[in-house]
Amino acid sequence: MVDYHALAQKYGTPLYLYDFDAIASQYTKLKEAFSARKSLVCYAVKANSNLSVIKHLVDLGAGCDCVSIGEVRRAQLAGAPGYKIIFSGVGKRDDEIREALERDILMINLESEAEMERVEMIAQEMGICARISVRVNPNIDPQTHPYISTGLHANKFGVDEDTAKRIYIKAKNSPHLDPVGIHFHIGSQLTQLDPIKEASEIVANLVRQLQALDIQIRFFDVGGGLGIDYEGEKLIEPYDYAQAILGTLSGLDVTIMCEPGRFLLGNSGEFLTRVLYEKVNGDKRFVIVDGAMNDLIRPSLYNAVHRITLLEPQGEATPASVVGPVCESGDFFAKDIPLPPTKHDDLLIVESAGAYGFTMSSNYNTRPRAAEVALQNGEDRLIRKRERFDELIADEIDFINLTNQ
Ligand SMILES: *Cc1c(COP(=O)(O)O)cnc(C)c1O
Repeated sequence: MVDYHALAQKYGTPLYLYDFDAIASQYTKLKEAFSARKSLVCYAVKANSNLSVIKHLVDLGAGCDCVSIGEVRRAQLAGAPGYKIIFSGVGKRDDEIREALERDILMINLESEAEMERVEMIAQEMGICARISVRVNPNIDPQTHPYISTGLHANKFGVDEDTAKRIYIKAKNSPHLDPVGIHFHIGSQLTQLDPIKEASEIVANLVRQLQALDIQIRFFDVGGGLGIDYEGEKLIEPYDYAQAILGTLSGLDVTIMCEPGRFLLGNSGEFLTRVLYEKVNGDKRFVIVDGAMNDLIRPSLYNAVHRITLLEPQGEATPASVVGPVCESGDFFAKDIPLPPTKHDDLLIVESAGAYGFTMSSNYNTRPRAAEVALQNGEDRLIRKRERFDELIADEIDFINLTNQ
């Protein structure tokens, strides 16, 4: 049992807690689901880019899926070998491409023909051959929230099949490009298997067409997106997920790659926050806590649901909105949920907060970011200090000193 009071006392609130044993168990489940083939699980670093979290997964054997050069640097700092790092994203700058090539990562995932030309040019300048994959947009509706749906032509991600084929042919004919992979990622918080299967089928067929053109794809990257339990969703089992994908790959000699973020971290993390006040406006009951949208923006951004539990509840539950101190009406964790009466210093746990929680946090309202703690083998350890006010102003303070002179 986790002693939340002791943790709140020791580290302060608001606080992120990550169960490292749960992360390991999620990783193992997925890895084993693909055991029929060679596979590489590349952790999507953007879900939670704390160095200790990355290192934990890297130690288990994971690679890293990065969407900025900053994430590539984090991955390498955490010990990920270059040959297990991939670099995706619709808008890579020249300096990011150059550094990724210098770091000799497994492959750069191209998201447009224009980007292919930049990568080719930079590789030529460097006198090397860049390993690439192409992100195919299979035009499949993943049936998830529009903000986290990425596999439709209406989304900015990837290229259509014809463009992909053109890129592969050009790459094959370029001494500076080596097409080794193919990639798709149709969205996040996926709870339906059919769209994944359909997308995999489309992309597998493309691999067969490329084979006929003597272009040998070695890495078949099915992206991330496996959904998790926020509010009792019916989930895709890793085994069924793997089987659905493997079923589309008959006759193809490829290493399967996947890029889970949320699946590994989401349910393994919690956000601990203290009650400051309760109040009633007309007939609306508000529980005001010390965490806010700057710490965990998912409810405000996507109307995402996170279960919230009050430690040691007493009395009858009535509807309440759990809100933070930030000056925005959109600053809420939950609206009108049943909650027993609370008092100053009570602890609330916002569940399923391990993915896209801390990484999306900001300093809005000059709020220092929360501390992060790992729980492993019945022990707790700090993995990121609570931010301090001095750090928030460090890059500004010199300039007012100057103007005051
Ligand atoms: C965000 C993202 C992922 C991870 O998505 P999850 O839903 O967290 O699994 C994987 N691949 C790419 C390219 C992404 O952009």
